[in-house]
Amino acid sequence: MNLQVITPICGNCKMQCPYCIASAHQHGNKFKDLYRENRDEYIAKLKQNFETHDWDTIIVTGTAEPMQEPETLKDIVKLLKEVKNPKTKIELQTRFHSVPNDIAREFDVVSRSIDNPDQLGSLKLTAANIDRFVIILTDAFNGYSFRQLMSESGFIPPQITFKTLHVDDAQTTPQSQWVKEHSCDIETCNRLKQEITCPVTTFQLSVRWDDNCMAADNRYVALRTDGDLYKSWDDSKPSEVIVPKISSRLNDFKSNDGKTDNNISVIVEQKLRYFKELELMVK
Ligand code: SF4
Repeated sequence: MNLQVITPICGNCKMQCPYCIASAHQHGNKFKDLYRENRDEYIAKLKQNFETHDWDTIIVTGTAEPMQEPETLKDIVKLLKEVKNPKTKIELQTRFHSVPNDIAREFDVVSRSIDNPDQLGSLKLTAANIDRFVIILTDAFNGYSFRQLMSESGFIPPQITFKTLHVDDAQTTPQSQWVKEHSCDIETCNRLKQEITCPVTTFQLSVRWDDNCMAADNRYVALRTDGDLYKSWDDSKPSEVIVPKISSRLNDFKSNDGKTDNNISVIVEQKLRYFKELELMVK
């Protein structure tokens, strides 16, 4: 189980993504900012949280882009590092095109997302501090192939995640309406899936396909700015969350037998020849 830490950023998100789920919840993200109102209590809650839960990964994110307040972000990471298990990896999720060294080095993984092919050219420029590139599949990617994406980005990132947008027919928010009208078409998604699951040999490229990034069940819980845990970003009330100790979860891993993580991810080994072709193409 991952912990998504919602960074206490003041004000609205500058990125204004039209599909932003974080701004579409009925509760309006009106949670207490305990971090600012009572820092000691916030830290005490953090400590208690990490004493009683074994998180697989800590994902630092927000209802506003965490990079828009670098000092707050740095402070939150510092606090998390003081209480977390040293083995637990910590990841930053950002939409900013560059992450400075002093922030990037505090994280095990920096993950940057783009939602339009016109941002592909900037990937190479910011590659030094980015570990994973997330491609949010809007209709701007219609017709794209994996090769074309790599060609236009000008380099091959070691980790790539494709994220489809979450369509919820029951929702009538402007964001859900936008998603219904601007999701990447099914033909493109199917072709991309086929390309990234082409078979194996020598070189390993980690490519994930995420069809439902908003599904919280058994994947993550959210730590809100009030220091409490929520089973999903939709929830307006905190929950008691029980995460079994890692040792008791080893059997779950074994039963997976190295297979893909259901609908979430496909870790793919690409043919060396294919990879070399890509390399030639992006030079
Ligand atoms: S960066 Fe994240 S929080 Fe900000 S608008 Fe985009 S999706 Fe929403």
